[in-house]
Amino acid sequence: MQTLRASKCGLSTAQLPPSILDVIDSLNKAGYEAYIVGGGVRDMMLGLNPKDFDAVTNATPAQVKEVFGRRCRIIGRRFELAHVYSGRELIEVATFRAPPKKAVTSASGMILRDNNWGTIEQDFARRDFSINTLYYQPRKGIVLDFCHAVDDIKTRTLRFLGEPAQRFEEDPVRMLRALRFAAKLNFQIDQSILDVFSVEMTQLLRDVSPHRLYDESQKLFTMGHLTQVLPMLIEFGVWKQLFAEIPPNLTAFIERAARNTDQRIQIGKTINPAFFYAVLLWKPFLERCDFYLNKGVVPAEARAQAGLDVLKRQATRTIIPRFAETFIREVWEMQTRLLNPKPQQIEALAGHARFRAGFDFLLLREKSGDSSTEGMGMWWESYQEMTTDQKEIAIRQYNRQRSKSRRKATEVVDEPKMTEIEPLVNVPEPRSRRGRKERVRSDESTPRFMEKASGDSSQVGADHPILRRKRVKRDLSQVVFGPTQ
Ligand code: ATP
Ligand code: MG
Repeated sequence: MQTLRASKCGLSTAQLPPSILDVIDSLNKAGYEAYIVGGGVRDMMLGLNPKDFDAVTNATPAQVKEVFGRRCRIIGRRFELAHVYSGRELIEVATFRAPPKKAVTSASGMILRDNNWGTIEQDFARRDFSINTLYYQPRKGIVLDFCHAVDDIKTRTLRFLGEPAQRFEEDPVRMLRALRFAAKLNFQIDQSILDVFSVEMTQLLRDVSPHRLYDESQKLFTMGHLTQVLPMLIEFGVWKQLFAEIPPNLTAFIERAARNTDQRIQIGKTINPAFFYAVLLWKPFLERCDFYLNKGVVPAEARAQAGLDVLKRQATRTIIPRFAETFIREVWEMQTRLLNPKPQQIEALAGHARFRAGFDFLLLREKSGDSSTEGMGMWWESYQEMTTDQKEIAIRQYNRQRSKSRRKATEVVDEPKMTEIEPLVNVPEPRSRRGRKERVRSDESTPRFMEKASGDSSQVGADHPILRRKRVKRDLSQVVFGPTQ
């Protein structure tokens, strides 16, 4: 172990936010050792702006709780640690850990519980990459380096402590961490890691909880280097584990959305991490919509059910929280609304809570060459810049065009486009219920439907409620009209 001067490593307390100093000082005052460790130290040394600071101490979580009282919450079961609130900031305070006992690892070697307290040397040894193992004591102005981590930072090398295959087996999430750090820091992954980072190794990710994988996927999406990490996820076979139902190719839409996400982060704009899930799952969603449309399900129902199906399948890999799922489905639904709005609804639509996200999504689709947006992305873009008078004129013009396309569309109404999720501007959905039903029936009678339905290893049986719904035949002679009808 070597003790380095913090100033020689380019570190100074002036760079630290008061919150982390408060945590370190309070622990020291109570008689405990405390260091800043991990990404905060690493990023400062690289001249980057750390996203947060983590602390480590010889106090147990219960003792940390005693020091901070109501400002502290103990969290985690597999990996117990203390969350300390300092002002508006949250600092994670971990306790020095010893190697896990044999009894708490799974058959494949995965660590199931990691709450065995130990010394700083033991704590160092169970960290993942050398560059994440520098212990910085800001008040003493020293950095403890147990493995020449500083050299790896200088040579920009991502190296594991210990034997790489075993480190992946202990915690397969380290595969995602390796790719994340390599992409974010522009580091080389050491050959010893590359040697074992095989597609077989990525299978271990199946044993990781989908909740944890969702959290990790969010870190990948929001680190500001999504463009770099996406091809790596594919190359290393991690993509298949995270997004089993999404074809592993970077479409123009995905690439553009990734670039856009990175740019937003760079200029400090907020991003909703669920947005990128909406992008990734867009194609599977459209395909699922087609599946239902081909079965004759009405478009609104097809979209609703397709959304549920796609998200349910994704949940077997990464569990997207309910609020994020709702966001994704709303963004998708907005695509239909924005594509073919009723003129009198345009203003209200522009003020809708999901308008911004839906519009951004539409524009990204359009700019990446998706012609099915019919130029509506640009239309909404310029609409937002207009004065009230200009908006009125634009809506009138839009209305005229819409009626024209509707007239044209009625001439070809016998051939509805089955590949679209919703009739577009020039193929309006029949207004009346009867019209819609007739369209459904005519679709049902085509041999194409019969082939498709029988050829599919159908997860939707004939008795599925979604298919039964459209078959309800109303015999109006039997309907008893109540007083209000
Ligand atoms: P960043 O916060 O920039 O994403 P980080 O390195 O700080 O990167 P954290 O997840 O905040 O990552 O973890 C803090 C530290 O805890 C790491 O630097 C590393 O030393 C250790 N650590 C985190 N996850 C693991 C893991 N799965 N295996 C071993 N050590 C880990
Ligand atoms: Mg961190």
